[in-house]
This record gives sequence, C-alpha cells and structure tokens, in this order.
Amino acid sequence: MPKYVYDFTEGNKDLKDLLGGKGANLAEMTNLGLPVPPGFTITTEACRSYLADGRLPGGLREEADAHLAALEKAMGKRLGAADDPLLVSVRSGAAFSMPGMMDTVLNVGLNDESVHGLAKQAGDERFAWDSYRRLIQMFGKTVLGLDADLFEDAMEEAKRAKGVESDLDLDAADFQRLVDTYKGIVRSQTGHDFPSDPREQMRLAVEAVFDSWNAPRAVLYRRQERIPADLGTAVNIVAMVFGNLGMESGTGVAFTRDPGSGQKGVYGDYLQNAQGEDVVAGIRNTVRLQELESIDAESYRRLLDIMRTLENHYRDLCDIEFTIERGKLWMLQTRVGKRTAGAAFRIAVQLADQGLIDLDEAVTRVTGDQLAQLMFPRFDAEADRRPITTGMNASPGAAVGKAVFSSERAKELAEQGEDVVLVRRETTPDDLVGMIAAQGVLTSRGGKTSHAAVVARGMGKTCVCGAEELEVDGQERRFTAPGGVVVNEGDVISIDGTTGEVHLGEVPVVPSPVVEYFEGAGDRDDELVRAVDRVMTRADSRRRLAVRANADNAEDAARARRFGAQGIGLCRTEHMFLGDRRRLVEDLILAGPGEERQAALDALEPLQRSDFTAIFQAMDGLPVTIRLIDPPLHEFLPDLTALSVRVALAGADAGARDRGLLEAVKRLHEQNPMLGLRGVRLGLVIPGLFAMQVRAIAQAVAERRDAGGDPRAEIMIPLVAAVQELEGVREEAEGILREVGVEALIGTMIEVPRAALTAGQIAEAAEFFSFGTNDLTQMAWGFSRDDVEAAFFSRYLDLGIFGVSPFETIDRDGVGRLMRIAVEEGRAARPGIKLGICGEHGGDPESVRFCHEIGLDYVSCSPFRVPVARLEAGRAALEGAGPEHAEAGA
Ligand code: ADP
Ligand code: MG
Ligand code: MG
Repeated sequence: MPKYVYDFTEGNKDLKDLLGGKGANLAEMTNLGLPVPPGFTITTEACRSYLADGRLPGGLREEADAHLAALEKAMGKRLGAADDPLLVSVRSGAAFSMPGMMDTVLNVGLNDESVHGLAKQAGDERFAWDSYRRLIQMFGKTVLGLDADLFEDAMEEAKRAKGVESDLDLDAADFQRLVDTYKGIVRSQTGHDFPSDPREQMRLAVEAVFDSWNAPRAVLYRRQERIPADLGTAVNIVAMVFGNLGMESGTGVAFTRDPGSGQKGVYGDYLQNAQGEDVVAGIRNTVRLQELESIDAESYRRLLDIMRTLENHYRDLCDIEFTIERGKLWMLQTRVGKRTAGAAFRIAVQLADQGLIDLDEAVTRVTGDQLAQLMFPRFDAEADRRPITTGMNASPGAAVGKAVFSSERAKELAEQGEDVVLVRRETTPDDLVGMIAAQGVLTSRGGKTSHAAVVARGMGKTCVCGAEELEVDGQERRFTAPGGVVVNEGDVISIDGTTGEVHLGEVPVVPSPVVEYFEGAGDRDDELVRAVDRVMTRADSRRRLAVRANADNAEDAARARRFGAQGIGLCRTEHMFLGDRRRLVEDLILAGPGEERQAALDALEPLQRSDFTAIFQAMDGLPVTIRLIDPPLHEFLPDLTALSVRVALAGADAGARDRGLLEAVKRLHEQNPMLGLRGVRLGLVIPGLFAMQVRAIAQAVAERRDAGGDPRAEIMIPLVAAVQELEGVREEAEGILREVGVEALIGTMIEVPRAALTAGQIAEAAEFFSFGTNDLTQMAWGFSRDDVEAAFFSRYLDLGIFGVSPFETIDRDGVGRLMRIAVEEGRAARPGIKLGICGEHGGDPESVRFCHEIGLDYVSCSPFRVPVARLEAGRAALEGAGPEHAEAGA
C-alpha cells in the first residue's frame, strides 16, 4: 500500500508532485530549522485515488490518525479537547501554485465546548469567539458550499448594529452572538447542525479540499495556465498559530525582492490582530512591512534574517506567509514567487551576478512567454498624460479599453471583439473569467499581494490595484475619481501597470524597449535591456536549433533578420497574386490553353521576380525557402454569390469577362477546398504555373548574384503526398535552373500524413523537408481548423481530450509521431537532408522544445516570435532534453 501521509520532517522541496508545493516547502523549511508549526501532508496520490473512486482510499484514515496522534503528542494537546484544544488548519496545496483557487479551513477543532477551553488557555474570550466564528464561516463556505455573502452580511449587520466600522471594534459578546447567527445560517441552509465533532470536521475539510480540485474556477485557472487536469492536490494539516491574539499578534506576506521590478528590498504587507486570509482579502488596510519594525522590532529582524536564508537556499525570489503570535514569529508558507516578465529577466541576471546561479541557469529561469510579454508596446512617455489617479503598479503593461464592472460584462464585450478593462473594488477567484477577457484590471482596494495583483502577474496581464481614491460602484457600473470625474461603463480608460497611472481616454502606445533593442536601437543603459541581452546572448551560444522566420516580403525579412533570424523558412508566394495583380490571375484562369495561358503567365513572371530579388537582398547570405503557390485558385476569384448577383442584375448587359468569371468560379467550386486542387496538384494540372514561378526565382538568383550578392534559394513544393508528384515537378524545375545557370535546393513540405509515412521515398527527390504542422495537424486529426476551433474545441478541452489545442502546441503523440517517422526515415535515405518546421508551431515554446528533441535543424516562425524561439531553443539545449539526432547547422 502506498504511503499517503508524510510528516513535515519527512518531506523536502523536491517532492512537489507528491506533497504539493505548499507541503514540500513546509517540509523544506522545517528541515532548515525554521519556525514552522508542526503538521503533516496527505499526498496528491490520495487525492487522485479519492477523485477516481469517490471515497478516501483504504488505510488513509488510519495513517492520518497515527500522524495526528503524533502531532497531538508533540503539541501536548488533543484535537478539539474541551479544556485545552489543539486546533489545526486544513490547507490545499497542489504541485503548481494556484493562488486563491482552492480552499483552506482554519481553526478546525472548535465547538461549543472547546471554545471555552481555548478562551481559558489564551486568557482571551474575544479571541476564542472570533476564531470560532471564522471556523464556521470558512467551513460553511468551503466545505458546505454556502454563499459566502450570507456570512459577510451577518458580519456587516453586527458592525452596523453596534455602529462600528471595523471588526476590531467587536467584542467577545458580539462574536459569541455572531457564532449563534452563523450556526443558524448553517442549519437553515443545509438542514443540519454545524458538525461539532473535531474529527468529523477534519475529515469533511480534507474531502472538501480534494473536491476543490474540480471546482469550476480551478478548472478554468488550470486551463489558462496549462496545468494538467489530473494532478490532484495535497492537503496539509498544520497546528494553528494565532495572529488574532491581540495587537502583539498579526499576520503578513512578504517577498524577498520586488516581484514587479526585481529590486532587492523589503516588500510585503502586515496586519495586526488578524488571521490568515485577512491580509489578502482586504478587510482592513494593511501596513507596509517596514512598519513592522516599529511594531515588533525583534520579529522584524528575525523575519528579514529568514528571508535572506530562504533566498540563498532557494537561489531565487521567494514569497512568504508568516504569523506572529504574541511576539513569536511563525513561518506558514514559502515558495519560489511569481514575478512579472521584466522581473524574471532582471532577477535571473542579478542572481547570476551575485554568483548564486550561473548564466546557463539564468537562461533556464526565464521563458519564451515572458520574453513575448516584454515585446508588447508601452504607453508613450511623450504623450500628454494627466492621470485621474494613481494606484499601485501591480503588473506592468499598457492596457486601453472600455471600463466594465463585472466579469460577465467583460466576457460579453470581449466576445464582441471589444477591448475592456475590468474595474472592481477588489477581485475574487470568481472574477477569473473577466480577468482573462480583459486587457487589464483596475481595483480600488488591496495591495501588491491582493488577489488581483497576484493573478494578473501570473497571467501577464496589466494590473493597477489599490487605487484608493477611486470609488467603485459595481451596482451602478461606474467609478468616481477625485475632482468628481465620473467614468461609466463603456467609457475608455488607459491603465499603466508600470507606473500605476489611470487615465481617462486612450493614451497612445509606443514600442517596448526590448523590441527596440532587438531592432538594434535599444538603450543599453536600461537594466531590463541589459538583462535581456545577457540572457539572449547566452541562449544563442547554447542552442543547437537554428531559427528562421516566415516572411513574404523584403520588409518583414529585414525585420526578422534584425531579430536574429538565420534565414527564411517560409516565403508564401500567394500574396504576390493579390491586390492589383489579382486581375492577372483571373486572366490566367480564364485563358485557354497554349499561347493564351502562356501570355498570362508571362505577365506575372516579372512581378514575381522583383519580389524575390528584394527578399534575397534582404536575406543576403542566408537561406530563403520559397514555397510555390499553395491555395486553390478559386481563392483568387470573386465570391460566387457576389458575382452571381452582379451578372444577374446586369442581365443581357453582363460583360463577357464577368460571365466567364462566373463560369470559372462555378467550375472551380469545391466541396472541401482544403483537400482539393491545391499545392503540388495545381502545379501538375496547370502546365506552366510552377515553371513560371521557378523561372522567376532562378532569374532573381541570377540577378542578385550578378550584382555581387549571395542569394541562397530553396524551392519548396507544398502538399506532396507521394514521391511521384515531387519527381515530376522537380525534373522541370531542375531544367529551368540549368537553363538560367543557377543553383537552388529543391525540397518539400511534409504536411500530408502520407508524406510523413513515406518520407524515405520522398527524401530521394527532396533536399530538404519542412514540416507544415498546421496542415499536418488538420489532416492527422481530420480537423478543419476554421470549423472546429469555434465549434467544439472548448468542449474538447473540458473533456480533457487534449490539454492544449493541437494547433497551438504540437500534439506529440500523434502529429509528433508522424514527424519522428519522417525525420528518421528521411535521414536514413538522405543523411544530410535539412529538416525544419514552418507551421505556426515554430514559435510556440513547447513545440520548439519538441523540435529540438527530435533533432530538427531549424524552426521557422513569424518575425516577432524569432527571439522567443531563440530563447526556447537555448533553454531546450541547456535543459538537456534530446536531441535524438546531434547534427548541427541549418
Ligand atoms: P492559500 O493557498 O489560499 O494561501 P493557505 O493554506 O496558505 O491558503 O491558508 C490561508 C491563510 O491561512 C494563509 O494566510 C495562511 O498563512 C493562514 N494559515 C494557514 N494555516 C495556518 C495555521 N496553521 N496557523 C495560522 N494561520 C494559518
Ligand atoms: Mg497561502
Ligand atoms: Mg499547408
């Protein structure tokens, strides 16, 4: 039988999968000799078993009882004993941090008898009744699933009845009455009494924590953060320590560095005479952690000491929860803290400079997603900026959108394509939907550790919090700023997560300094730019994958090159047939065979040639993969309905061209164009089309070469499924290249499953493969992307059929397997064959890693994603996964 329960002394920080992050780190701190209240952890394995079977696994109860007995022994108290009760917290804690998503119950063990024992032992009646009402409140909400407002309202009513504002002004008798009211709420809502047996309280709380794994908001959060759905959560049972034992007690949160900027210093919030979640819930205003020094100097010094110990031990920014009970400091949680993208880069390089980590590790400490966030635009510092108020800069970025005051409304407008900013007094886990939908989040209450701030940072979303001058009225859907400025739902506001400023109207945005750096114009004195430069330089020196860009014109090619692209992996030629040139394509389609068609092709050729010349020039000395025309021809013709109407309205006056076009549109109409006449099939069916394109490429190469350039063309044939298709096209192309007297590689996309499965044969005729993973995914799954994504993907994600859309991240098991086969058989048939990817996956961090593992030579992605791919390729190489093939070079 597996071991389901671990004492804190038995665990360590590397057991996150089993003990959850919270449990693993409580154990780590315990073993470091830090003051952690004793306790034990029930494993995620027990949770998985419970969720699968609907009941606690056999043996768990006995094991937990034994650990509880040991805990009671260590504390010299028994759980819920009438005279001197041991109280515990029952805390959720998954392997990945999910702030506020799952539940915790404090003060388990209190009932009508033990509340007196607690009061007597503490010498404080008020404290005992306050703790008891908190238990019923948290238990009611979390375990019994009651509406939290029922309890909040009763609390508000108690304060109103007494004419006070703060819970600090309520006394023992008030809390005792509140306990009665709360018990009444439980009875009337559930038909049962609040359970008074401490063991039963504990068991029910454990099950509730397990169940909270599947609460809707937790499911949504996991999907957003790409956390697998089947991990389960651990449960921690921790002896209670009390921050609500008077003004010499309190509770707080702290960071070892500023999670917004990475600066070293003292960052955190503290609240006297309070318990647990009061700090983040914003029930009273917290004080800045520095002020603890004047409240309790000794605890303050001890805390700073421990923070240093933790940062050196974890070699990273840590965040911390602590409680002071009558002058004694207790550590209740730590973890490697979430941080903004900018802070991640700064901290990684700072830690390297401090010698805590080396530069290689610094590269692994940041992600491509974080780099992508740093590339978003900022507000223009030159713009006329007169903020209506300034709040806390909780999560950087520039967000502009219509103010909305509820999550539902945010979602609704976002679905209509509107940019919105979610404005709330404070957010709760139920606001997650709105936060995802919004460009940014603005709150009037709560500090940098409030729910809004923590979640927004995690999502990389702009957030200004604690803008206390704002009066937010969610009911009336408006807020009021100083000077009587009223902002109603739908009014546009701009919020600056870097400065905390809130503006009425739209403030113009400018490119980020990181993009300017990639463009070659960055400010090297800027700490962030320097950090990005150090990390990128190291990543480049470590990566094995080359990175190319998908670019269809000289301008994109030049930008991609500045961003570090080592060539073009996909140049689509079809855009060259649009705009003014569409008419020439119509001519081609309408043309009869023979001379008429040749004339139409001849008209297109010089245009194509000049396009290619410009691209070769921009990418001089680097490979440029040009894909011959891919989409079905009717995409270049007018829409059937529009054309039919035009011809019908014109009646007898309809021009010959329109009538001809209409006929052509009808003739070329396909039931399923994705699987119809396109790609190499067009080349084989319409004589001269591919030849024209190849000749244009060849002449562009010759032109550049004669001008002293170094053009490197790679001609790519799309949609090949059989080597015979490729052979036909190849022969003709080689003839043309010979004729013009230039050289170019000829290769193919691998985007039809049959091509992957016969890659050994196809490699005989191909000098390179480029995986077209968009089509390969469509055809491997039998999904028409445009149809399925809107229609049922969210259902598929709910059902867990896949954790991430296979169009975002390569599906390793299916599409990935086809790729492996093609890599293996392609290399076996032609050892030096060049292998790359040009689907959108080429810029997706996970997929870049996969490409590294299977030994591709390069990835190709949109110019803006090139730095992201460079970084991820470096990380993949450093983290040691793969490559199965150790061939270098692109
Ligand atoms: P979350 O993951 O939402 O932070 P926690 O399990 O950390 O939930 O607990 C909620 C709050 O209760 C935190 O502020 C935590 O520090 C506090 N808390 C948890 N266990 C104890 C305990 N044994 N004694 C005192 N406070 C506790
Ligand atoms: Mg916590
Ligand atoms: Mg394709």
